[in-house]
Amino acid sequence: MTLIINATQIQSIYHHAKNVYPEECCGILLGTIDKLTKTVVEVIPTDNAWEQSESVFGVASSLENLDRTKASRYTIPPQDIFQAQKRGRDLQLNIIGFFHSHPDCPAIPSSCDRDRAWDIYSYPIVSVIQGKVSNFQSWVLDCNGIFREEEIHQG
Ligand SMILES: [Zn+2]
Repeated sequence: MTLIINATQIQSIYHHAKNVYPEECCGILLGTIDKLTKTVVEVIPTDNAWEQSESVFGVASSLENLDRTKASRYTIPPQDIFQAQKRGRDLQLNIIGFFHSHPDCPAIPSSCDRDRAWDIYSYPIVSVIQGKVSNFQSWVLDCNGIFREEEIHQG
């Protein structure tokens, strides 16, 4: 699979990532899919709802979760996913992936990213080091559930 994304769309992801640094940004990619490519049509930046989801599920009390702040975790608000699905239906587009940023970390998926990934989506990650974008890579799960780098083609 190749992810086709244009310069404006990439800039919009970078902009969101720099804006919320040092927290993780996240968002939704709407687009089209054929056999070999996913083409981004719209980038939808969303809030990072990690804290809300933490309190909803009441897991903030455990020691293990103390370091799971918005600097290292993201949750796309369910209502935003719902709205993106609706918009996708209206425009005959699909959700083709979810992007997020890694503040001061490489653009490589974490084990947490792996645990929550679905094999039909692309997972672009933008690495933001000291407030500046340093790298942008996209990832997809292979048939063994291992993240593989996905080719990005600037369309
Ligand atoms: Zn991540």
